Amino acid sequence: MNPREPHYPLWELLVPPGAYAKPERRAVAAAGARLRFDDGSEVLDATSGLWNVNLGYGNTAIADAVDRAMREASYLTLFRYSHTYALEAARALTEAAGPAVFRRVIFSTSGSSANDLVMKVARHHALLTGEPQRRLIVGFKGSYHGLTYGAFSLSGEELGQQLYGVDTRLVRHVDAGRPEDLERLMRREGHRVAAVVCEPVFGSGAHELPRTTLEALLELRREYGFLLVADEVATGYGRTGPLFASSAWAQAPDLMVTSKGLTNGTCAASAVLASHAVCDAFERADALLVHGETQAGTPPTCAAILATLAQFTELSALESGARVARALDALLAELVAELPSVTAVTGRGCFRGIQLAEPDGTPYSAERVQQAIAAIRGHGTLAHPGPGSVQLVPPLTLTDEEAHELGTAVHKGLVEAR
Ligand code: PLP
Repeated sequence: MNPREPHYPLWELLVPPGAYAKPERRAVAAAGARLRFDDGSEVLDATSGLWNVNLGYGNTAIADAVDRAMREASYLTLFRYSHTYALEAARALTEAAGPAVFRRVIFSTSGSSANDLVMKVARHHALLTGEPQRRLIVGFKGSYHGLTYGAFSLSGEELGQQLYGVDTRLVRHVDAGRPEDLERLMRREGHRVAAVVCEPVFGSGAHELPRTTLEALLELRREYGFLLVADEVATGYGRTGPLFASSAWAQAPDLMVTSKGLTNGTCAASAVLASHAVCDAFERADALLVHGETQAGTPPTCAAILATLAQFTELSALESGARVARALDALLAELVAELPSVTAVTGRGCFRGIQLAEPDGTPYSAERVQQAIAAIRGHGTLAHPGPGSVQLVPPLTLTDEEAHELGTAVHKGLVEAR
């Protein structure tokens, strides 16, 4: 142990050794799309933090709003009374997401806890609508919904079960690329399904939910009456183009899970939006959803939500995101044309995956992906590792010059890492 690195063993406990670059340098400041380290060096952050700083770092309007709320009402709970910050944030969120679809907002503190919450809402809704047999939650293989027990069980990988024994008895996973599997599952167990949860664009690899699967899902929903849940934790707040990706679906979801871009990374927050039909079921029965968290929906957090939404308008962030997306289109088309290692580009908007393969067609291993990430990092840009891919998830507010800089770094890095 290096005595000058007191946090080093803690870091090793927090992340699997070797999974990330060792923290030789520490980030000390962040502004716009740039991070600064303690040795004075800077990088362009094409990962928007953890895909949450959609409007760039250091937004002063959001900082001021949080600061004001912190001084005016540092803490108020939603348990004993309501408060204007929460009411205003909930109103602004439903307005932004579509008041014809959504009526209520349930605040939580992370994407994971919000997904746990929707699993409860879906089962509670089944009880309230006289269908207590609906206890199954269906997700997709390769999906990511978080790492708490509930959300980990819903995430479409086996690690949670293998390592921590998360209980998947009431969860089913289907292959997103095979709508026929979803149909087969529904024919077998559709009457027991409370909800299907899906990401419009899968975080791992930035793969889109295939159109045929979405169509099958919407058709099956009509037939089997399960709740449709859009996990927009990653795709929400302009990440893929529109404010919410599921707004482009032919049917609106019953529940929409949002987090990440909700406060632009300033406060730990998530918000689940519930449709009129779901709210009706709870209100008719005068039912109390057994959920609450001490730190959910506090005044500073709600002030951050309100200010973030206002900044989307103020900064024309969706238009700006569309400009960045066009720059990424051009860059990615160039990479596909020039580099045989780039087999496909996936995703949409400011949420892209560069799929990489060896000359024999084998997708890049995790180690090879890390080499590519390191090479890009060597040219001053931080990219995100995905399965067999490098992901670009830049802020929507990236300037043209920064988009160009990102393009050059990715291009050079991928050439070097070939
Ligand atoms: N759902 C999706 C689609 C995500 O991308 C993530 C985080 O990456 C989560 C849920 C979990 O969110 P959190 O890390 O805030 O718990």
